[in-house]
Amino acid sequence: MQATAASGAASLDSAAAAVTPAISLQNVVKTFGEFTAVKGLDLDIRQGEFFSLLGPSGSGKTTVLRMIAGFELPSSGRLDLAGRDVTRKAPFERDVNTVFQDYALFPHLSVAENVGYGLKLRRTSRGDRRRLVAEALEMIRLPHVADRLPSQLSGGQRQRVALARALVLRPQVLLLDEPLGALDKQLREQMQVELKQIQRTVGITFVFVTHDQEEALTLSDRVAVFNEGLVEQVGTPEDLYERPSSRFVASFLGNTNLVEGELARGLTGSDALLSIRPERIQIRQPDEPLESAGMSSVEAVIEEVVYTGPSTRFVARTSAGQKLIVQEQNDSRASSARRGDRVRLEWSSRFNYTV
Ligand code: ADP
Ligand code: MG
Repeated sequence: MQATAASGAASLDSAAAAVTPAISLQNVVKTFGEFTAVKGLDLDIRQGEFFSLLGPSGSGKTTVLRMIAGFELPSSGRLDLAGRDVTRKAPFERDVNTVFQDYALFPHLSVAENVGYGLKLRRTSRGDRRRLVAEALEMIRLPHVADRLPSQLSGGQRQRVALARALVLRPQVLLLDEPLGALDKQLREQMQVELKQIQRTVGITFVFVTHDQEEALTLSDRVAVFNEGLVEQVGTPEDLYERPSSRFVASFLGNTNLVEGELARGLTGSDALLSIRPERIQIRQPDEPLESAGMSSVEAVIEEVVYTGPSTRFVARTSAGQKLIVQEQNDSRASSARRGDRVRLEWSSRFNYTV
């Protein structure tokens, strides 16, 4: 009888833990003098989530990250970590660690000493330290550079060491401020894959700041889209891309066709602004019949054809002057439309998305 009651209580506790957000911001405002950088932010980040703060430069992402870390205090509002109010707590009183874009490794310490530095401050024993550092270097797949100095590493390697130095302390939350920003495109894409794998392995909550929409879509479980100190939308990459809630989100995440006025009324019977993604539109001959019911269609002239390797981008214009971009994969069904051709553009009406 007693055993039943105890296990009942235990499962209630774990259920509560599962729904307590790792990070919760409630009506958080941050002003610098007259300027309001963060305008009343409500945001819950779940435990174990890869969560990105995405937005243009100056939209308040770093300020939010610095408030979570405790480097800045909110002007008003409340911040909880794992259900505990830390609004006025110092950085070292929070189970949070930060990786910055500029690595900030100690130049005179070896890689192993850099990674073990925080453990040393925590008075972790020498033996445990050696083991934990070796594990962390293994995780970032750089076990062979333990004795080198940071100056003897490439940019990508330095960034991985900075990551190991943060991970070795096993924080509940890892904050990353544009950590891949300084790397070239190829290395950045490779590091994105590794970062995601590491996050999955360690199960720590990652909060990742980026202004790169592709990076945010690739990495994240969920994304908050920032615009001028406010969050415009929070959702999975698919939510944001397929079902943007505003003109800003629709155009910030990838290319889109924004349609209003006469054409919008013709397509949906309403004046509301539409977002139609270029890859949803197909190019047909003007006299070809509609593929099926439930399709939207408009006649247009091809103005521009841009070959980009795996795909081709067409710029088309309707007789009413509406420009529409079409993005086609260069597979066996690719259109052979050329500049000046009269065509009919066709897409499923469910891709007329009101924003
Ligand atoms: P992001 O990381 O999205 O580029 P930031 O959070 O760094 O944006 O900055 C948001 C706004 O707040 C910017 O206009 C920036 O100039 C301003 N800001 C940030 N920190 C300070 C500060 N310490 N003093 C004054 N203004 C600041
Ligand atoms: Mg920033």
